[in-house]
Amino acid sequence: MIELTDVRFRYDASASGAFELRVDRLALGAGSRTAVVGPSGSGKTTLLHLIAGILTPVQGRVVVNQEELGGLPDAQRRRARLRSMGMVFQDIQLLDYLSVRDNILLPYRLGGGLVLDREAKDRAESLANRVGLGDKLGRAIDKLSQGERQRVAICRALIARPELLLADEPTSALDADTARATLNLVFELAEETGTTLVVLTHDPSVLERFDRVVHVDGGGVS
Ligand code: ADP
Ligand code: MG
Repeated sequence: MIELTDVRFRYDASASGAFELRVDRLALGAGSRTAVVGPSGSGKTTLLHLIAGILTPVQGRVVVNQEELGGLPDAQRRRARLRSMGMVFQDIQLLDYLSVRDNILLPYRLGGGLVLDREAKDRAESLANRVGLGDKLGRAIDKLSQGERQRVAICRALIARPELLLADEPTSALDADTARATLNLVFELAEETGTTLVVLTHDPSVLERFDRVVHVDGGGVS
Protein backbone atom coordinates (compact mmCIF):
# COMPACT_ATOMS: atom_id res chain seq x y z
CA MET A 1 0.00 0.00 0.00
CA ILE A 2 2.74 2.42 1.03
CA GLU A 3 6.41 2.06 0.18
CA LEU A 4 9.15 4.60 0.77
CA THR A 5 12.62 3.76 -0.52
CA ASP A 6 15.82 5.77 -0.02
CA VAL A 7 13.82 8.91 0.62
CA ARG A 8 15.53 12.18 1.48
CA PHE A 9 13.56 15.33 2.09
CA ARG A 10 14.77 18.82 3.01
CA TYR A 11 12.66 21.90 3.67
CA ASP A 12 15.40 24.20 2.49
CA ALA A 13 18.06 22.47 0.47
CA SER A 14 20.35 25.51 0.52
CA ALA A 15 20.31 26.37 4.23
CA SER A 16 22.92 24.65 6.34
CA GLY A 17 21.42 22.90 9.33
CA ALA A 18 18.05 22.76 7.62
CA PHE A 19 15.84 19.88 8.67
CA GLU A 20 16.35 16.68 6.73
CA LEU A 21 14.17 13.57 6.90
CA ARG A 22 15.66 10.24 5.83
CA VAL A 23 13.66 7.08 5.21
CA ASP A 24 15.79 4.20 3.94
CA ARG A 25 12.85 1.87 3.69
CA LEU A 26 9.31 1.87 5.03
CA ALA A 27 6.63 -0.50 3.77
CA LEU A 28 3.09 -0.58 5.16
CA GLY A 29 0.65 -3.21 3.92
CA ALA A 30 -2.95 -2.67 2.84
CA GLY A 31 -5.33 -2.72 5.80
CA SER A 32 -2.50 -2.34 8.31
CA ARG A 33 -2.72 0.02 11.25
CA THR A 34 0.43 1.98 12.00
CA ALA A 35 1.15 4.47 14.76
CA VAL A 36 3.92 7.02 14.19
CA VAL A 37 5.56 8.36 17.32
CA GLY A 38 8.48 10.68 18.05
CA PRO A 39 9.36 13.90 19.82
CA SER A 40 7.97 17.20 18.70
CA GLY A 41 9.90 18.50 15.70
CA SER A 42 11.25 15.05 14.79
CA GLY A 43 9.58 14.96 11.38
CA LYS A 44 6.28 13.08 11.91
CA THR A 45 4.13 15.59 10.05
CA THR A 46 6.75 15.80 7.31
CA LEU A 47 6.62 12.01 6.88
CA LEU A 48 2.82 12.09 6.68
CA HIS A 49 2.89 14.85 4.07
CA LEU A 50 5.39 12.85 1.99
CA ILE A 51 3.05 9.84 2.06
CA ALA A 52 0.14 12.13 1.10
CA GLY A 53 2.10 13.61 -1.80
CA ILE A 54 1.73 17.10 -0.33
CA LEU A 55 5.53 17.19 -0.15
CA THR A 56 7.81 15.44 -2.62
CA PRO A 57 11.28 14.11 -1.78
CA VAL A 58 14.50 15.42 -3.32
CA GLN A 59 15.59 11.82 -3.65
CA GLY A 60 14.02 8.38 -3.47
CA ARG A 61 10.58 6.95 -4.16
CA VAL A 62 7.23 7.27 -2.44
CA VAL A 63 4.82 4.69 -3.84
CA VAL A 64 1.21 4.71 -2.67
CA ASN A 65 -1.35 2.36 -4.19
CA GLN A 66 1.19 1.27 -6.81
CA GLU A 67 1.60 4.84 -7.95
CA GLU A 68 4.84 6.74 -7.54
CA LEU A 69 3.64 10.11 -6.30
CA GLY A 70 6.83 11.94 -7.26
CA GLY A 71 6.24 11.00 -10.88
CA LEU A 72 2.82 12.62 -11.06
CA PRO A 73 2.06 16.24 -11.92
CA ASP A 74 0.56 18.31 -9.07
CA ALA A 75 -3.01 18.10 -10.33
CA GLN A 76 -2.88 14.32 -10.58
CA ARG A 77 -1.32 13.99 -7.13
CA ARG A 78 -4.11 16.09 -5.75
CA ARG A 79 -6.69 13.97 -7.52
CA ALA A 80 -5.15 10.75 -6.21
CA ARG A 81 -5.28 12.26 -2.73
CA LEU A 82 -8.94 13.25 -2.98
CA ARG A 83 -9.95 9.91 -4.43
CA SER A 84 -8.14 7.51 -2.17
CA MET A 85 -6.88 9.29 0.93
CA GLY A 86 -8.58 10.79 3.93
CA MET A 87 -6.54 13.29 5.90
CA VAL A 88 -6.85 14.70 9.39
CA PHE A 89 -4.45 17.63 9.59
CA GLN A 90 -2.65 18.71 12.74
CA ASP A 91 -4.20 22.16 12.41
CA ILE A 92 -7.56 20.61 11.45
CA GLN A 93 -8.25 22.93 8.45
CA LEU A 94 -12.02 23.16 8.43
CA LEU A 95 -13.84 25.93 6.59
CA ASP A 96 -15.29 28.27 9.20
CA TYR A 97 -18.03 29.65 6.98
CA LEU A 98 -19.48 26.22 6.21
CA SER A 99 -21.68 24.09 8.45
CA VAL A 100 -20.58 20.87 10.08
CA ARG A 101 -22.48 18.95 7.38
CA ASP A 102 -20.85 20.82 4.51
CA ASN A 103 -17.39 20.44 6.04
CA ILE A 104 -17.89 16.69 6.34
CA LEU A 105 -19.02 16.59 2.70
CA LEU A 106 -16.18 18.82 1.49
CA PRO A 107 -14.27 16.06 -0.38
CA TYR A 108 -17.28 15.80 -2.69
CA ARG A 109 -16.98 19.46 -3.63
CA LEU A 110 -13.27 19.45 -4.38
CA GLY A 111 -13.39 17.70 -7.72
CA GLY A 112 -11.69 14.40 -7.00
CA GLY A 113 -14.27 12.58 -9.07
CA LEU A 114 -16.50 11.79 -6.09
CA VAL A 115 -20.26 12.07 -6.63
CA LEU A 116 -22.35 13.77 -3.96
CA ASP A 117 -25.40 11.53 -3.85
CA ARG A 118 -28.05 10.60 -1.28
CA GLU A 119 -25.83 7.83 0.08
CA ALA A 120 -22.99 10.29 0.78
CA LYS A 121 -25.37 12.69 2.52
CA ASP A 122 -26.79 9.88 4.66
CA ARG A 123 -23.29 8.73 5.50
CA ALA A 124 -22.37 12.26 6.63
CA GLU A 125 -25.27 12.17 9.06
CA SER A 126 -24.48 8.70 10.29
CA LEU A 127 -20.81 9.60 10.87
CA ALA A 128 -21.81 12.77 12.73
CA ASN A 129 -24.16 10.72 14.90
CA ARG A 130 -21.45 8.24 15.67
CA VAL A 131 -19.03 10.94 16.88
CA GLY A 132 -21.76 12.63 18.94
CA LEU A 133 -22.32 15.59 16.59
CA GLY A 134 -25.67 14.51 15.16
CA ASP A 135 -27.43 17.51 16.69
CA LYS A 136 -24.84 19.99 15.36
CA LEU A 137 -24.91 19.25 11.62
CA GLY A 138 -26.25 22.70 10.77
CA ARG A 139 -23.93 24.59 13.06
CA ALA A 140 -21.07 26.76 11.82
CA ILE A 141 -17.57 25.55 12.60
CA ASP A 142 -16.63 28.70 14.52
CA LYS A 143 -19.31 27.81 17.06
CA LEU A 144 -17.73 24.47 17.94
CA SER A 145 -15.21 23.54 20.60
CA GLN A 146 -11.75 22.40 19.49
CA GLY A 147 -12.62 18.80 20.34
CA GLU A 148 -15.79 19.00 18.24
CA ARG A 149 -13.80 20.41 15.33
CA GLN A 150 -11.39 17.53 15.57
CA ARG A 151 -14.29 15.08 15.32
CA VAL A 152 -15.68 16.91 12.26
CA ALA A 153 -12.24 16.60 10.67
CA ILE A 154 -12.27 12.85 11.35
CA CYS A 155 -15.73 12.48 9.75
CA ARG A 156 -14.56 14.44 6.71
CA ALA A 157 -11.49 12.23 6.37
CA LEU A 158 -13.62 9.07 6.43
CA ILE A 159 -16.67 10.19 4.45
CA ALA A 160 -15.50 8.86 1.08
CA ARG A 161 -14.34 5.48 2.44
CA PRO A 162 -10.68 6.18 1.68
CA GLU A 163 -8.25 3.35 1.06
CA LEU A 164 -5.82 5.22 3.28
CA LEU A 165 -6.42 7.39 6.33
CA LEU A 166 -3.58 9.69 7.35
CA ALA A 167 -4.24 11.34 10.69
CA ASP A 168 -1.95 13.85 12.38
CA GLU A 169 -2.55 13.68 16.14
CA PRO A 170 -6.30 13.40 15.51
CA THR A 171 -7.33 13.26 19.16
CA SER A 172 -4.90 15.75 20.70
CA ALA A 173 -7.64 18.23 21.67
CA LEU A 174 -9.90 15.60 23.19
CA ASP A 175 -10.11 14.54 26.83
CA ALA A 176 -8.91 11.00 27.56
CA ASP A 177 -12.37 9.39 27.41
CA THR A 178 -13.48 11.16 24.22
CA ALA A 179 -10.07 10.48 22.67
CA ARG A 180 -10.41 6.77 23.35
CA ALA A 181 -13.99 6.68 22.05
CA THR A 182 -13.02 8.62 18.93
CA LEU A 183 -10.05 6.39 18.22
CA ASN A 184 -12.28 3.33 18.72
CA LEU A 185 -14.57 4.75 16.10
CA VAL A 186 -11.68 5.43 13.71
CA PHE A 187 -10.59 1.79 14.07
CA GLU A 188 -14.15 0.55 13.63
CA LEU A 189 -14.79 2.63 10.51
CA ALA A 190 -11.39 1.76 9.06
CA GLU A 191 -12.14 -1.90 9.55
CA GLU A 192 -15.55 -1.58 7.87
CA THR A 193 -14.00 -0.08 4.76
CA GLY A 194 -10.67 -1.94 4.80
CA THR A 195 -8.91 1.39 5.21
CA THR A 196 -5.17 1.41 5.88
CA LEU A 197 -4.44 3.58 8.92
CA VAL A 198 -1.44 5.78 9.65
CA VAL A 199 -1.92 7.76 12.86
CA LEU A 200 0.58 10.14 14.41
CA THR A 201 0.19 10.19 18.14
CA HIS A 202 1.74 11.39 21.35
CA ASP A 203 -0.39 9.10 23.48
CA PRO A 204 1.52 5.98 24.58
CA SER A 205 -1.66 4.44 26.02
CA VAL A 206 -3.11 3.80 22.54
CA LEU A 207 -0.06 2.17 20.95
CA GLU A 208 -1.04 -1.40 21.75
CA ARG A 209 -4.04 -1.05 19.46
CA PHE A 210 -1.85 -0.67 16.39
CA ASP A 211 -0.19 -3.47 14.39
CA ARG A 212 2.99 -1.52 14.22
CA VAL A 213 4.73 1.48 15.78
CA VAL A 214 7.12 3.53 13.62
CA HIS A 215 9.58 5.79 15.43
CA VAL A 216 10.70 9.10 13.98
CA ASP A 217 13.66 10.72 15.65
CA GLY A 218 16.34 13.19 14.63
CA GLY A 219 15.19 13.03 11.00
CA GLY A 220 15.45 9.22 10.84
CA VAL A 221 12.62 6.69 10.63
CA SER A 222 12.81 3.22 12.16
P1 ADP B 1 6.68 16.89 14.09
O1 ADP B 1 5.41 16.71 13.34
O2 ADP B 1 7.35 15.60 14.47
O3 ADP B 1 6.51 17.78 15.28
P2 ADP B 1 7.54 18.32 11.70
O4 ADP B 1 7.57 17.28 10.64
O5 ADP B 1 6.40 19.26 11.72
O6 ADP B 1 7.74 17.62 13.13
O7 ADP B 1 8.86 19.19 11.58
C1 ADP B 1 10.16 18.63 11.50
C2 ADP B 1 11.19 19.74 11.42
O8 ADP B 1 11.05 20.47 10.21
C3 ADP B 1 11.10 20.75 12.54
O9 ADP B 1 12.41 21.09 12.90
C4 ADP B 1 10.38 21.91 11.90
O10 ADP B 1 10.79 23.12 12.50
C5 ADP B 1 10.84 21.84 10.46
N1 ADP B 1 9.82 22.35 9.55
C6 ADP B 1 8.51 21.97 9.51
N2 ADP B 1 7.84 22.60 8.52
C7 ADP B 1 8.76 23.41 7.92
C8 ADP B 1 8.71 24.32 6.81
N3 ADP B 1 7.57 24.52 6.12
N4 ADP B 1 9.85 24.96 6.47
C9 ADP B 1 11.01 24.76 7.13
N5 ADP B 1 11.13 23.92 8.18
C10 ADP B 1 10.03 23.25 8.57
MG1 MG C 1 3.52 17.43 13.69
